[in-house]
Amino acid sequence: MKIYQQSASTTAVANKVPIGYVHSTETFGSVDGPGIRYVVFLQGCRMRCQFCHNPDTWNQGVGEEWTADEVLADAQRYQAFWGKQGGITVSGGEALLQIDFLIDLFKKAKAKGILTCLDTCGQPFTRKQPWFSKFETLMQYTDISLVDVKQINPREHKRLTGWSNENIFDMLAYMHEHGHHVWIRHVLIPQRTDYDSQLIQIGNYIKTIKSIVDKVEILPYHNMGVPKYQELKLNYPLAGIEPPTQARVKNAEKLVHVADYTNYKKFPNYA
Ligand code: SF4
Repeated sequence: MKIYQQSASTTAVANKVPIGYVHSTETFGSVDGPGIRYVVFLQGCRMRCQFCHNPDTWNQGVGEEWTADEVLADAQRYQAFWGKQGGITVSGGEALLQIDFLIDLFKKAKAKGILTCLDTCGQPFTRKQPWFSKFETLMQYTDISLVDVKQINPREHKRLTGWSNENIFDMLAYMHEHGHHVWIRHVLIPQRTDYDSQLIQIGNYIKTIKSIVDKVEILPYHNMGVPKYQELKLNYPLAGIEPPTQARVKNAEKLVHVADYTNYKKFPNYA
């Protein structure tokens, strides 16, 4: 992962081209969507997930300023490695906070035949205008979205992330209604999300949107972000909590029925 510091703006400002504030890029990402992908991590997130391992992406309006053309030119240097499933992923931080830039990037990527993937927590989602129309436009140029379901219960979600999850489920309802395909991801954290009753509820919820869910992943919590909290002089909210055991991960995979969601193998040729 290449991490960027502040940089000068480009002539794109004068030309009114949307600017993306980039935290870093990863040239050979293999976990952020199908195949091998060029991953752009955008700067800025309003959530404050207790398990976040990238608190250095939280601040908005900082990072290196890139245009969509600049991102694509850099990404395409690695295109030969993408194969049939790979492409570009935009992650964060929270990518949807920079939706104008995202639309420009994905529209230009699709014009070049590049497969696009959005990695989002869904927190900025709203049906209020003008944001909602922008989101609808973005979805036209998005091949797949990776969506985190962090907690099923709104009150518990607020405790874990600082925000409720009603709009996140509304976003998934919209995607379901319009056939926009997703991978669902859930971070398994002892003493926070690793409870059978919650996992069963998540499994039941995912079944209700099954037609758009191509993959479900249980991501075991890890504490590799601790040094970043120390560097930023932030309290680490999950101090003392260890990653889940392999047995608990397997239990979670069973309760949310991970094995039932295998369409990702066919990407991008959905049946
Ligand atoms: S949504 Fe992602 S970037 Fe934002 S706080 Fe949560 S884990 Fe961190």
